[in-house]
Amino acid sequence: MAFEGLTTRLQNVFSKLRGKGKVSDEDVAEAMREVRLALLEADVNFKVVKEFIAKVKEKAVGKEVMESFTPGMVIIDIVNKELTDLMGGSQAKLAKANKPPTVLMMVGLQGAGKTTTSGKLAKMLQKQNSRPLLVAGDIYRPAAIKQLQVLGEQIKAPVFTLGDQTSPVEIARQGLQHAKDNGNDYVIIDTAGRLHVDEELMEELRQIHSVVNPDEVLLVVDSMTGQDAVNVAEHFNQQLNLTGVVLTKLDGDTRGGAALSVKAVTGCPIKFASLGEKLDALEPFHPERMASRILGMGDMLSLIEKAQLNIDTDKAKEMERKMRNAEFTFEDFLEQMDQVKKLGPIDQIMDMIPGMGKMKQAKDLKVDDKQMGRIEAIVYSMTTEEKRNPDMINHSRRKRIATGSGTSLAEVNRLIKQFDEMRRMMKQFSDMMGPKGGGKNKA
Ligand code: GDP
Repeated sequence: MAFEGLTTRLQNVFSKLRGKGKVSDEDVAEAMREVRLALLEADVNFKVVKEFIAKVKEKAVGKEVMESFTPGMVIIDIVNKELTDLMGGSQAKLAKANKPPTVLMMVGLQGAGKTTTSGKLAKMLQKQNSRPLLVAGDIYRPAAIKQLQVLGEQIKAPVFTLGDQTSPVEIARQGLQHAKDNGNDYVIIDTAGRLHVDEELMEELRQIHSVVNPDEVLLVVDSMTGQDAVNVAEHFNQQLNLTGVVLTKLDGDTRGGAALSVKAVTGCPIKFASLGEKLDALEPFHPERMASRILGMGDMLSLIEKAQLNIDTDKAKEMERKMRNAEFTFEDFLEQMDQVKKLGPIDQIMDMIPGMGKMKQAKDLKVDDKQMGRIEAIVYSMTTEEKRNPDMINHSRRKRIATGSGTSLAEVNRLIKQFDEMRRMMKQFSDMMGPKGGGKNKA
């Protein structure tokens, strides 16, 4: 998952601050130096880092912070808000034309994920009861048309094509007309990419733009390409007035710099993030949730939304309440794991639960689906009472649990320790966010 390195480094900086009762100006300066390095290492644009640190410093060096009861927490809160702002502040929604169809023009370099993203967007729109038409405008890449047709078949969305001998401008024009004639309320135009930005391509895109007058020009960028992605975005934006960016391949181990720089550099909001090759791996981009994930504070809201299809919301709310109040037991843990398995790859889900991201990084506790089986075996070997009161699990009980689950005492010890830490972190974060999720914790 993206941002892992950044998350670990930021958490180290903050755990040093959290450990202190009083925080001096030097402590803040030192922490800011480390945050700066962490961001640069995550490949965030140099100018963006500079401005970011200046803003955080301005807010953090104030008297109010130093005199608060938990200065470390207040600083994390400031960083959280600034990170959110950096990525656009709040969710940028997809435009909707007053008079349908809404035209979405997809642009980007070859291999960025345009064609797959077009299919994913169509699927997302279908779920909202829309009737999108996909238009195959990439006539240069061999198999691009076929790829779009296959995607269309999978999701049962119509695909408009005139083969690869008609000009893309003409395809776009006729595609739009086809949508109007057939009552499609969205038109998603897949355009050609090149390996590099070139003038010929831009000219063609400008022509398509003037013919279809799109409501959205969405640039699809591969977040694995780091700074390059930001340069590409800047270039396309100058030529085409982008209305939004889609970041793909955030499931890979990208350092995350692109996500953090692209809005600040181009002024263009990130509208969607893609976290996998599957057709439902596209998510609306929420800056505040992404900031929370980057800081290792989890993303309960996205998790609950993801879960809504699978579990009843009352249960989810109850679970969140328990997490916030540190009433979370091993029984809840098991139940959560059960639900989680239905939701997708375990490591992506873990990142959304407060404290779990950190637990995942712990040495020797590699969290993959097999490892989850061992963790479950340990919890299943606990008595009901032990599951409800983890504090009562003393040494001899731990030995019994290890034998019963076919694991080692060290594994049992580690799980219990990490479970405790997770509960503590959930509590700390919920205290920091206050009952409504925004307040600072002051003396
Ligand atoms: P295009 O040339 O821009 O149309 O790119 P494609 O849509 O053909 O995508 C290029 C490759 O990237 C394909 O193998 C996709 O499956 C893959 N891909 C696209 N989006 C994602 C993503 O979010 N995560 C991962 N892991 N792969 C992706």
